[in-house]
Amino acid sequence: MPSLLEHTDRCVKCGLCLPHCPTYGKTRNEGESPRGRIALIEGLANGRLALSPRLEAHLDSCLSCRACENVCPSEVQYGTIIDAGRALIATQRPIRMHEKILGRLVTRKPLLRLGAWLLRVYQRSGLRRLVRGSGLLKLAGPTLNLTRLDTLLPPLPALHTLQEYYPARSLPGTEKRGDVALFTGCIASVMDTATLNAAIHMLTTCGYGVHVPRAQGCCGALHMHSGVPQQAHALAMQNLDAFSDLKIEAIISTASGCGAPLVEYSKIDENNEQLSKFSAKVHDISAFLTSISWPENITFAALHQRVAVHESCSLRHVLHQHTHPYTLLRKIPGIDLTPLPGNTQCCGAAGAYMITQPVLADALRNDKLTALKRSETQLLVTSNMGCALHIVAGLREAGQEIEVIHPVTLLARQLQNI
Ligand code: SF4
Ligand code: SF4
Repeated sequence: MPSLLEHTDRCVKCGLCLPHCPTYGKTRNEGESPRGRIALIEGLANGRLALSPRLEAHLDSCLSCRACENVCPSEVQYGTIIDAGRALIATQRPIRMHEKILGRLVTRKPLLRLGAWLLRVYQRSGLRRLVRGSGLLKLAGPTLNLTRLDTLLPPLPALHTLQEYYPARSLPGTEKRGDVALFTGCIASVMDTATLNAAIHMLTTCGYGVHVPRAQGCCGALHMHSGVPQQAHALAMQNLDAFSDLKIEAIISTASGCGAPLVEYSKIDENNEQLSKFSAKVHDISAFLTSISWPENITFAALHQRVAVHESCSLRHVLHQHTHPYTLLRKIPGIDLTPLPGNTQCCGAAGAYMITQPVLADALRNDKLTALKRSETQLLVTSNMGCALHIVAGLREAGQEIEVIHPVTLLARQLQNI
């Protein structure tokens, strides 16, 4: 496995990635560019640079969107470099408040479910209005921006416990196929149950039995990108255990932000063959549904509407599966699909980035809101829950009435006769 310095050494400083970097595009600051960040990490790793608040800020402001990696002619593995750079920094300073809270919350399911339940009560009881008016949200200080969190939260659905197994549906003309397993994620398991249910519905309708292992956990993306690879490794091992005894054809992920780290588990420990086998089984739901042969009796109600497609960075730059939602949704008669202009640029959600870097996150989101306004659509699909949360919060603030859903939710909604 190449060392961090061997990775940074591959960068020939050509600058071809700069026009593709959203943070460089907004700031025109070399320190906010891939080339600049690689140089900073290189200096830190070889001891020529000491850790400073300024250096850390330049690395913190990277979205880990990997648009730069995708266009680099020298095949520099920027994702590996930024994660390793952050891990290096994490060894030189105490863990930050938001990292501590988020890291713990997403790995403890009962705590996550309790939190979701309390937040739902908070949203529905009038308590939210009271708390907002009292100024209490400002008390936590800048490291844990509760006001920001409060504005990002959508109305939470009622808590829902998925079954451990959903058998294939017995429909006339549909033959039973094998079994697959569903990766539910941490936040998505309490906030995006609509997408999970739609995925189960489509898979069972197409003849697949769906396992939902209870012992699965968070994918580890937040930990990996905030410099704690040991915790990401522990989560990868937990997921390996949770899925290992199942006789399945594939592990299906609905949120591309979870699918991306799952397919890269092999990078966490290159000597663990089981992790590589796990990663090889992971498929984004749209990619999986477009790869199978469909039962002939499945039909969809027509939708004579323009639908914009947002391509998340994880789906586009990491999984390279951004064409599949289009192929899948073309099954709906009459649909007018249009890529959201500017799809190569990140929307600013980027995991915890939308909370920790509000200025850049909002500037990037504004570009999406402007593109949406121009596209004259009332419906946007995106394969990543994090992007959906961030964009919906922006639409709410701007008073733009546009529905944002997952492609598989739209597909399941249009399903007919079954
Ligand atoms: S990361 Fe790649 S494209 Fe960017 S400066 Fe380095 S070698 Fe050039
Ligand atoms: S990952 Fe994205 S934000 Fe970070 S340097 Fe690369 S292009 Fe810029």
